[in-house]
Amino acid sequence: MINGRPYVGRFAPSPTGRLHLGSMVAAVASYLDAKVHGGRWLVRIEDLDPTREVKGVSSDILRTLESFGLGWDGPVVYQSTRHEKYREALDSLMISGLAFGCACTRKTLAKADGSRVYPGFCRSGLPKGTAPRSWRFKMPRGVSLSWHDRVVGRQSYSPDSVGDVTLLRADGHWAYHLAVVVDDADQEVTDIVRGADLISSTAAHVGIQRALGIPKPKYAHVPLVLNAEGQKLSKQTLARPVEIKDSREVLSMVFKHLSLPEDMSSHPRDMMSSAIKHWGKKWKEEDE
Ligand SMILES: [Zn+2]
Repeated sequence: MINGRPYVGRFAPSPTGRLHLGSMVAAVASYLDAKVHGGRWLVRIEDLDPTREVKGVSSDILRTLESFGLGWDGPVVYQSTRHEKYREALDSLMISGLAFGCACTRKTLAKADGSRVYPGFCRSGLPKGTAPRSWRFKMPRGVSLSWHDRVVGRQSYSPDSVGDVTLLRADGHWAYHLAVVVDDADQEVTDIVRGADLISSTAAHVGIQRALGIPKPKYAHVPLVLNAEGQKLSKQTLARPVEIKDSREVLSMVFKHLSLPEDMSSHPRDMMSSAIKHWGKKWKEEDE
């Protein structure tokens, strides 16, 4: 139980490519953490952008998880079926004045100052007759976006460093930040265990959760797997997909990365059960 709520964890891949070692680390870490807490582990496919989706990858991801001994609880949720929920959340932010229409083009923003944070051009309203291209979250100023991270410790971001993140994109697709917050709340996720590359996104999520009156889950950002050049493994860095036939070797690499013993038993399922015990010793919080 986490603050009186039963533990629910999740893994939420996008079907833009097959799972690689980096995504397996996030999957295994979130699975082990859910199991050691006696919780449920959900899988959600983040298929919001059909133009980036690779055909057949969703089922490949699920097949891979299963073969690695990562069985999920309950039905798999597909974000592509949840447009109404995101619409409701955006409407509620609009009504409370916490969303604004943005007319900036990519070009305008690129010229701004090269920073990745939105410069706030449309924050105080668009000129009459100007149609919004996208919708953004009006990140409240003067508050701290903070949380206690179970792996990296206390995190605190200023709203200025996060900026007014996109909720509905100019191409008509829902933005990751809105969808993920809405889904985690609807699925009653209490604990999010994922890669450290998402730490700054979490700051945005904390702001949106507060605006929507959603309880803040606990977060644990596990270390990223880097390639020989020190880059995060991703589709962009051409990370190699993991193969089901190599499941024992891959799991052993994942365990090593998570500082767990790399015992290679006969079956991935057995390797996972033995990893649960070690995870409990290493990562379970004393103060629960
Ligand atoms: Zn704008």
